[in-house]
Amino acid sequence: MDKPDFRPESLMMSYGYRPEWSEGALKCPIFQTSTFVFKTAEEGKAHFELAYGLRQPNKGEQLGLIYSRINNPDLEILEDRLGLWDQADDCAVFESGMSAITTILLEFLQPGDVILHTNPLYGGTDQFISEILPKYGISSLEWNRQDTYDALQQRLEKALQGKRLGIIYIETPANPTNTLYDIEWGKRLAEHFSSDNHKPVVVVDNTYLGPLWQHPLKHGADLVAYSATKYIGGHSDVIAGAVSGKAEYMQRVKVLRTFLGNMAGPWTGWLLLRSLETLQLRMERQAKNARVVAEFLREHPKVEKVHYLGFLSEEHEPQQYAIFRKQCSSTGAMLSFDVKGGEAAAFRMLNSLKLVKLAVSLGSTESLAQHPATMTHAGVPAQRKAEMGITDKMIRLSVGVEHPDDLIWDLKQALEQVDR
Ligand SMILES: *Cc1c(COP(=O)(O)O)cnc(C)c1O
Repeated sequence: MDKPDFRPESLMMSYGYRPEWSEGALKCPIFQTSTFVFKTAEEGKAHFELAYGLRQPNKGEQLGLIYSRINNPDLEILEDRLGLWDQADDCAVFESGMSAITTILLEFLQPGDVILHTNPLYGGTDQFISEILPKYGISSLEWNRQDTYDALQQRLEKALQGKRLGIIYIETPANPTNTLYDIEWGKRLAEHFSSDNHKPVVVVDNTYLGPLWQHPLKHGADLVAYSATKYIGGHSDVIAGAVSGKAEYMQRVKVLRTFLGNMAGPWTGWLLLRSLETLQLRMERQAKNARVVAEFLREHPKVEKVHYLGFLSEEHEPQQYAIFRKQCSSTGAMLSFDVKGGEAAAFRMLNSLKLVKLAVSLGSTESLAQHPATMTHAGVPAQRKAEMGITDKMIRLSVGVEHPDDLIWDLKQALEQVDR
């Protein structure tokens, strides 16, 4: 019988590791070492030539182990496994999602460039683009939900005036509103604004649905960024990030990572290897729970609106619905909802939760609730928050793996406190 192409979930326990490397150990050990011994000086020289990009690898030649800021077995095996989900050429793991994102931005932007970005963005990314990048002469332009393709292209043409469009940065679904953006538009814009010696890089933050339910590289992205703190880590016990993508871009990302020194350590790598074994199980259960929770909230008299991918309607939001059908293979496990009565009502509900924890972050085994307007998105100016629909009445909920009846019991009793 021919061996089938095993699916990623079947490979998460073994791919990229051979027990004979470690005394037959079934599991990849933690390689808690800063440096690696070369067999010969010639070997050390060859490794450095590749690490510093001084020559192209010979056929079948792989970068050897040098020093844990450059590479380490726990990171390399993790990167091989993580890359399978997106069918990426290569992957790089970082010490946080923010370091993954900012390394991409610093590598592919230069002074004078413009970055186009969707709205809303993760608070940290938003702040980096609006507060830090201008210090390096990089300005930004926004891509909003109501934009048509033609309007967006025209606005860019007006704004660029000879400047380079460095990066098209897309966060979809957007945190915390679940707004969807069409990755193919990003690809089209990149082609339109390409010149002989430069092509804008299309980057997608895939934290909300990835790596299971959305594969941006298939839709024309060049690089995919993750906060691995979220679903990939999944247990609220580690901070990490990752970038996957096309080889030519990944090589540059890895070189800058080496010099910024913001790779993850072996212990983080090992924890994430462990997490990956249950990634599919956890995410599927979370998505199932989220549907039950979303349906409960939609019927509740204290809830004004539920922002959930499963409630997109072809009739009311044809564009959003079409993007969903094209790009997403699940309705996910993130939702937000508007509580009648504004901030005071939202706070009363949050303060009354017993099983769901009042905390930021998302994608982990336990359910978490928070208030975006005053917490994750507190740094976004009021006017922009209003434009994006991040209101005082909004609560964001990341649904975990608990029994759905217990989650509903908790949300119900907390909503009953809203009027007290
Ligand atoms: C959490 C998050 C980040 C930042 O990741 P960290 O691991 O906290 O640095 C970036 N983007 C999105 C969508 C996130 O949810």
